[in-house]
Amino acid sequence: MSVLKKADYFNTSLEQEMDSSFQQHNPFVNSTIQLNHAYYRQFQIEPTLYQCFFEHSSDAMLIADADCKILHVNSAFVAITGYSLEESIGQTPHLLASGVHNDSFYDQLWESLNQKGYWRGELVNKHKNGELFSIWQRINVIEDENRQVLYYISSFSDISIIKNTERKLWQMAHLDSLSGLANRSLFEQRLLQAIFAAKRSGQFGAVIFLDLDDFKKINDCLGHRCGDLLLQEVAKRLQANLRTEDTVARLGGDEFVILLSGLTHKRDDAEKMAGSVAQKVLDALFQTYLLDGQELQISASLGITFFSTGFDESTEKLLRQADIAMYAAKTEGKSTYSFYHPDMLEQANKRLSIENELRSALQHDQIVLFYQPQYDVRHQLLGFEALARWQHPEKGMISPADFLPIAEETGIIIELGERILYMACKQLAAWQAQGFDVPHLAINISPVQFNHFNFVDSVISALELTGVNPSTLMLEITENLIIKDINEVIEKMRLLKQRGIRFSIDDFGTGYSSLAYLQRMPINQLKIDRSFIQDIIHNENDAAIVNAIIAMACSLKLDIIAEGVETSEQVTYLADCGCNAFQGYWFSRPLPEAEVLSKLNKPKNRS
Ligand code: C2E
Ligand code: MG
Ligand code: MG
Repeated sequence: MSVLKKADYFNTSLEQEMDSSFQQHNPFVNSTIQLNHAYYRQFQIEPTLYQCFFEHSSDAMLIADADCKILHVNSAFVAITGYSLEESIGQTPHLLASGVHNDSFYDQLWESLNQKGYWRGELVNKHKNGELFSIWQRINVIEDENRQVLYYISSFSDISIIKNTERKLWQMAHLDSLSGLANRSLFEQRLLQAIFAAKRSGQFGAVIFLDLDDFKKINDCLGHRCGDLLLQEVAKRLQANLRTEDTVARLGGDEFVILLSGLTHKRDDAEKMAGSVAQKVLDALFQTYLLDGQELQISASLGITFFSTGFDESTEKLLRQADIAMYAAKTEGKSTYSFYHPDMLEQANKRLSIENELRSALQHDQIVLFYQPQYDVRHQLLGFEALARWQHPEKGMISPADFLPIAEETGIIIELGERILYMACKQLAAWQAQGFDVPHLAINISPVQFNHFNFVDSVISALELTGVNPSTLMLEITENLIIKDINEVIEKMRLLKQRGIRFSIDDFGTGYSSLAYLQRMPINQLKIDRSFIQDIIHNENDAAIVNAIIAMACSLKLDIIAEGVETSEQVTYLADCGCNAFQGYWFSRPLPEAEVLSKLNKPKNRS
């Protein structure tokens, strides 16, 4: 094979040698190209044809001399890079450097060029306008017969579209679309790597499970848009308060997880470190949020578990442990963190079994109603409040405080609430049909239930199915409802009020209702929360609050009732303040249906 000398080479046009498609048929491809005009001549290919290939190739091409100075570029190069022929000639390919690649990347590239005579690979370049773009690049070295570098020939195609599609696919598979954080799958990959690294290094790593407190209420009361904005802001705050090497992911809903790796070799120190991260996160999340013009505050509960050498935990097991510890933090009063302990597993299993049992309780009619009488100061019966109880076949009577939060969290409350409403209406209709004088029956409505789109229809259908007199029904709602779109709340109340149903604000004084809102709502009664009644005789603050509530009820022309009244002193004091309706153990505990009849006035003579 004859090898051209450098001088001979210059007798031919450089462009003749440059067609990339031709290179694919070149016997020297993937090895140092040595110029061989005889080879071209053998195929009787004209130089002008090469020129044509070079100029019109859709791949960008450049030729540089042994010092990497660009000698020539084709029009695709100009189009792809934004640099004209004149601007490019005399420069080195560094003109396109993006700064994305590190020294070791270039070391490998040069090693390949020097040893193999070529390099192929992906690279990120910078357009003249500053934009980065990805290319697939081929560089070949052209040497003379003494293996001295004559030229570097490079051709590349813009693969930004492919890379962008690849990136989008990766993001779809690994990132949470709402928050932009890692999703469960990416988190588990990173956690697995961290577990292996911890086993090798002996350093502790931690998984922190984070759940926002009462997020469901915010979502239900303020709407999903506001909920989404809140989650995005939470994600930002989490990222801002963690190291870049920590992974933070959103598992779904309001559940986030954080991976801290390479903490320290000692468990005690690891606990201190993870604890301080958890506290930092709690503080950051507690700062006021401004969403859609609304100010909002929310806390979070965090659960922490650890892994290291000697721990044979799977990603799934660690996530479950951190989740269980998070629930322990919730039961400790929320807005705190707790470390996983094996004893917590038992508690978690209990919760899960309550959830499952509650579903079956509904199927097997284990939810029953008790009725607590309400009286005036002269012991005249004013009505009853229906209070749910779960008559468990083995565990006995379970209080609503133990199952309602779970019912609300899981959405079971919708079915449960409808059932209670129907049962209470049916009972009231039965008493009315028997001629008993029951002035009214109060039924508690959970905010989740009230905000359900079907709420008004479910009340109307209970009225129609049972034939109860709607004006004897009083629905107890809580102040927290009012933070939702007030117009929607008022509209629902108005529709029911049209039927004669009355409304009471339960636990009044503990929520954050605005007086302006209260005035606009079609309410009939304020029910002063038990917490203010307990100490009313000895606590001046409580007494002042109760007096203010009574005065306000007077000016808004609302009825007032005190709940949790346990002593005759409380009755006298409240009566002196102007409150003339009471509910509490002083008068009666909540009663099963069978005992209610003794409290009712005798049936009227219906003849
Ligand atoms: P609530 O609506 O404020 O009901 C009053 C609670 O105070 C009842 O607790 C009642 O038994 C208790 N109570 C009444 N008088 C006294 C007293 O003198 N001293 C003390 N210490 N407590 C008194 P219960 O039945 O355990 O209900 C707790 C809460 O569960 C209720 O508070 C209500 O928010 C909710 N709840 C009960 N039944 C239902 C229901 O059917 N649906 C919904 N959505 N919530 C319900
Ligand atoms: Mg109530
Ligand atoms: Mg109450």
